[in-house]
Amino acid sequence: MDCLFCNIAAGKIASRKIYEDEELFAFHDINPQSPVHFLVIPKKHIANLMECNAEDASLLGKMLDCAQRLAVQQGLGERGCRFVINCKSDGLQTIDHLHIHVLGGRKLKWPPG
Ligand code: AMP
Ligand code: ZN
Repeated sequence: MDCLFCNIAAGKIASRKIYEDEELFAFHDINPQSPVHFLVIPKKHIANLMECNAEDASLLGKMLDCAQRLAVQQGLGERGCRFVINCKSDGLQTIDHLHIHVLGGRKLKWPPG
């Protein structure tokens, strides 16, 4: 299967990498929606959050922990930021590989349109 984010996590397609370990990869979004906008993904291909079950709980916890730690590293700890997971068509997910968006560096609007 040819998946853009699998290829990015494997280093086969270039990205502005922020962090990597055995299970996770984080990189700046190519089309940032705020001064800081990066993505945290599992190296394992999971299409979206609806595909997850209890066996993925540990990996999902690591993704959230990683997103939070990197947000602090990127200077978002004091003022905060938004952690977003778009899911399937109504959620406007465009890349079918699970990812957490981390958006910050400006006051964001709510609710989403
Ligand atoms: P989503 O709409 O939640 O599926 O988000 C996909 C995100 O991936 C969008 O914010 C895109 O800007 C971002 N994106 C797409 N291609 C790349 C790429 N090659 N490198 C980094 N980010 C990308
Ligand atoms: Zn993938």
